[in-house]
Amino acid sequence: MLYVLKKPMDSIPVVYSKDFLTDYPTVDCECPDRVEKIYSHIRNIADFTEPGPCGISDLMLCHSEQLVRSVQRDPVIYDIACRSAGGAIKAAELALQRPSFALIRPPGHHAGRDFNGGFCFFNNMAVAIKRLVSKGLIRNALIVDIDLHYGNGTYDIVKEDGNIDFVNIDSASREDFFNDIEAALEKASSFDMLCCSAGFDTYIRDWGGLLFTEDYRKAGRMLASSNPHFFTVLEGGYYIPDLGINVHAYLKGLLEACS
Ligand SMILES: [Zn+2]
Repeated sequence: MLYVLKKPMDSIPVVYSKDFLTDYPTVDCECPDRVEKIYSHIRNIADFTEPGPCGISDLMLCHSEQLVRSVQRDPVIYDIACRSAGGAIKAAELALQRPSFALIRPPGHHAGRDFNGGFCFFNNMAVAIKRLVSKGLIRNALIVDIDLHYGNGTYDIVKEDGNIDFVNIDSASREDFFNDIEAALEKASSFDMLCCSAGFDTYIRDWGGLLFTEDYRKAGRMLASSNPHFFTVLEGGYYIPDLGINVHAYLKGLLEACS
């Protein structure tokens, strides 16, 4: 009989492209330094993979032709937004094997079917899930959004989709935050895939003023323990000095869940 020793994971697949350092026109706080800072802090536990751009047919799974055309008016933004959505697709595909993280910008959870805003152009998360469902790779998915802000765009796209459940975590205290995540994850194992829109703007020194670095580790561990087919996409997070250590802590939580 052949015994295979399962080696503990020592790195997390992270989807990243230097294109995300493009200084495209957006608000000052959603700057290339965000991903640069994260990239430099997670190198020792990240296994980087470069994504391609998504196709227009992927965008049309979630967005109206009118919205896609409105983004196309600025070719620089259109290219980077397609690359970002392509990064989410790549992370979702990797999650068929093991938990992954999409280190991407622009973020996506404020982009709905026929609107966008809040530094978002296309809904990276929704595009990724709908593409996997359309290819028959998964039947359904649960999205947990832990960004400080409500994922109004994601809700708008998935609200009538019986295959995709969406839970937005909006907590007033650290204790509530973990209780709310625990409640959201009760049925996580019954879905083919678990997906997290992770914003780090809930951080104690960021706009949310709520969570500490170690809390991201715990959140990552709780999420990745709930379904082996799990991926995360970066949404917000604007306190740049600590953004790297917070994402590093989150990835450590993923590793702990897998060991
Ligand atoms: Zn946010």
